[in-house]
Amino acid sequence: IDELKERHRGKRAPKVLAIGQAGEGLVRFAAICHDKHDYAGRCGMGAVMGSKKLKAIVCRGNRKPEPADAEALRELKKRVQGRIKESVPAQSLREMGTDSTMDLGMMTGDVPIKNWTRGEALEISAEIGGPAMTEKFLVRPAACYGCPIACRRVMKNDREPFRMETGPGPEYETAASFGAMCENADAASLLVINEWCNRYGMDTISCGSAVAFAMECAEKGLIGGELLEGLELEWGNAGAILELVHRIGTRQGLGDILAEGTRRAARKIGGGAERLTCEIKGLDLPMHDPRAYHGMGLAYMMSNRGACHNAHLVHPIEQGIATWTDLGFSENYDGQTSGGKAAMVKKAEDFGQPLSALCMCVFDMWCFGSSDPVDALQAVCGWDFTLDEYLQAGARIWLLKRSLNCLMGLGPGEDRLPEKVLTPVSEGGAAGSVPDQQLLLREYYAERGLDERGRPRREVLEAAGLHDMAERLHPANG
Ligand code: SF4
Repeated sequence: IDELKERHRGKRAPKVLAIGQAGEGLVRFAAICHDKHDYAGRCGMGAVMGSKKLKAIVCRGNRKPEPADAEALRELKKRVQGRIKESVPAQSLREMGTDSTMDLGMMTGDVPIKNWTRGEALEISAEIGGPAMTEKFLVRPAACYGCPIACRRVMKNDREPFRMETGPGPEYETAASFGAMCENADAASLLVINEWCNRYGMDTISCGSAVAFAMECAEKGLIGGELLEGLELEWGNAGAILELVHRIGTRQGLGDILAEGTRRAARKIGGGAERLTCEIKGLDLPMHDPRAYHGMGLAYMMSNRGACHNAHLVHPIEQGIATWTDLGFSENYDGQTSGGKAAMVKKAEDFGQPLSALCMCVFDMWCFGSSDPVDALQAVCGWDFTLDEYLQAGARIWLLKRSLNCLMGLGPGEDRLPEKVLTPVSEGGAAGSVPDQQLLLREYYAERGLDERGRPRREVLEAAGLHDMAERLHPANG
């Protein structure tokens, strides 16, 4: 990346998107790296680039973008900066990064532990949560372009065996997937594991999930000596976790099997290993437990790219981190209730989908009012958009993605929670709680207008203006 930046340097430094060894080796959860510190992490986009033998993309602009209404944009900037300054979640993100949510999440049962089999591990969060990581390793916060929150971490560790030069520190999802999920309380190891995932270019959620899955397979005797090749794959063994990350990134032995993702790896391992996976539509669940937040379980089931916590705004709304009462959201949802969650999830999807289309960060949205993104759209693009039209655009995006999935053969059988999160844990904030999958789906299908085959109904597509898709999905002569 440094070399490409230097080679293509003009008046301004270029930006570089690149894949690493994992993308070249078609690891199914390979990521795309942006300028050595940000990642398009999920769904294996790095493997897509790798399959096309596309190593990197370099972009350099030479003109300053002009907003349609500079004065309106200045006003908006002032307003949202004020909101961010007063926002408690923003302060906590700045001080401790996204890992600031670990300690509270551990108390509510939100953090998955030991491959989704335990409900609480306060001794682990005390070591790898935001306050501990900040105290031990923080060099300084860092920000994406122009963001006043600065939730990103720059960290270093001077001590062996997990010494790390100054560089990007782990996010919450990484700390949870390689920490709590693997019963690994060695905080320093997370810096180095994160760094190697970055260097290979791998999604840390799916990679950590694959390692935790392999640990449980080893514990249950489903993988043994020949595949382990001397690896002591026991819970909490930080050195073994790092070694397995290397084997996945370079596709060696067991790593080659896990590089296919947990769904395919389980089929290959056999012996009922599928029951130890935790994925929806092939994408491993992020580090928020649906047993603690049933609405999140529904959002995972209905997310079009597989289990995703960012394709909607269910996370801040259901957990009470942020809300938008003017849109009809409550300020106080009971996480461990399934009835009535469908309406909230659908609206949180419609409200959240345009953020990806606009390349806006969900954490910034935690601090914004409901109309701020619409005002931004008007000021930057000059489009006369209302909040209602914005929500309609969100619904249209969701319906279009769902329809494409249906055209490619997806059916209601894929809208399912894995057995792992339908099995109650016996301790912690979510003890005894499991989402009522049937109720959640029944209410959601009615709310969203899906038929018994999981397809958006013709009239729903027509009402959204998706006439061509309505014809394809429900052909008149079909
Ligand atoms: S844009 Fe989002 S991810 Fe980037 S620093 Fe700001 S809050 Fe963090």
